[in-house]
Amino acid sequence: MSGEFSFFDAVCNNFDRAAAFTSFDKGLLEQIKQCNSVLRLHFPVRIGDRIEVIKAYRVQHSHHKLPCKGGIRFSDMVNLDEVMALAALMTYKCAVVNVPFGGAKGGITINPKKYSVYDLERITRRYTSELVKKRFIGPGEDVPAPDYGTGEREMSWILDTYAAMHPGEVDAAACVTGKPITQGGVRGRREATGLGVFYGVREICKMEDVMKRLGMSTGIEGKRVIVQGMGNVGYHSAKFFQENGAIITSIAEYEGSIHDEKGLDVEAVFNHRKSTGSILNFPGAKNLEKNTDALELDCDILIPAALENVINHENAPRIKAKIIGEAANGPLTPEADEILINKGILVIPDLYLNAGGVTVSYFEWLKNLSHVRYGRLEKRFTENQNAVILEQIEELTGKKIHGTQKDLLLHGPDEVDLVKSGLEETMINATHEIMECWKNNPSIRDMRTAAFVVAINKVGTSYQELGIFP
Ligand code: NAD
Repeated sequence: MSGEFSFFDAVCNNFDRAAAFTSFDKGLLEQIKQCNSVLRLHFPVRIGDRIEVIKAYRVQHSHHKLPCKGGIRFSDMVNLDEVMALAALMTYKCAVVNVPFGGAKGGITINPKKYSVYDLERITRRYTSELVKKRFIGPGEDVPAPDYGTGEREMSWILDTYAAMHPGEVDAAACVTGKPITQGGVRGRREATGLGVFYGVREICKMEDVMKRLGMSTGIEGKRVIVQGMGNVGYHSAKFFQENGAIITSIAEYEGSIHDEKGLDVEAVFNHRKSTGSILNFPGAKNLEKNTDALELDCDILIPAALENVINHENAPRIKAKIIGEAANGPLTPEADEILINKGILVIPDLYLNAGGVTVSYFEWLKNLSHVRYGRLEKRFTENQNAVILEQIEELTGKKIHGTQKDLLLHGPDEVDLVKSGLEETMINATHEIMECWKNNPSIRDMRTAAFVVAINKVGTSYQELGIFP
């Protein structure tokens, strides 16, 4: 809980604020807002010589489009309110980026660090079989993905358990996304959320009017960026910002934060943490006392990429960033949101900014249903055509093209190229749609409300076209 709001209350609060800018029937809005199906589980798992009762959840927020889609989180902080909030965010997120799924989320209330890999596998498999029994998983029903505390390994266990319980189901691989490539995963999924965060912020930074209002120059080059969390989303976001000329001045992790005004090498910090178990004492960087200290340092762009509620009424007044890119889900409490709006900080909201994961999960699901790798059919054809065009250009101009330029011109698309360009296209379109909505409704105060308006309009129209409502 954050202040007077629970996480789900906070999402509903944002929904209500945006709903005022739409013209749907009150009852329809209420239907969109509520969680359609909630599954709360307790199941026993033998851990060593004792039996442990594991608490877990799966929430399907909306069935306006099927399957439902949303990650599975392993954390001792997982609770029903959190899973409901995250499931609701998934519905709005999918709508904003035109991914044809309803929102869902799952979670198991465990600290994965306290269990052996063997125990984690049995917990994950048992959870999956419970989802199968209750019909809360399946390629056309509900498709989980990784989230905080889970990754490709867990997704493999989920697929294997599901497939064992559905022998001969030809589309079984589409029951879960975020799988390893060998198990039907798609190239580019691992880095998708972080890359989507980068594409989203980059698009905003290209907008002259927005950047002028914030007192900043356009572009990513030279921007000072702080990232909280070196997990999947934080690490990849930081890496893409750095590769595109931004300076990563601070990184915060669970154990503390580090700062170097000249810029931190993200890969080196990641490897340092891997070998020492901590980001602290990174050569050349200054250790900061608390893990939240980095959030309050002066910077252009702050990327919280760890957990919810990390910026709240207590520290929000001290935030100095000009742009906050919500890579994590719900990193700001409603009180913090209000404070930051009043300070003139641009908050790029989670429901749009971290949609890269679900977008590429959608591509993975499509790949699993079509049973063919992206690029397999057209790569060679495109390369042969490019060679003919290049030959003609060389003949007409009398000039030979060599080296990297020639390679680039000849290159036919691989799976990863297609996935990344599909993601880029999705994030760019979503950015413009939200900003357009904001410009057309001058009474909207913030980008989050504009993103919710876009989402509600799409979900509401979909419900209306289903014919359930007059
Ligand atoms: P992860 O488990 O890979 O990484 C989270 C990182 O945050 C870990 O390294 C952890 O040590 C760190 N952390 C935890 N508490 C912290 C604290 N107080 N201060 C600083 N660091 C802390 O998880 P992830 O998949 O990267 O997810 C991070 C956030 O992004 C979550 O909110 C998740 O819901 C959201 N998200 C993830 C995806 C995805 O594809 N993985 C997609 C959309 C949204």
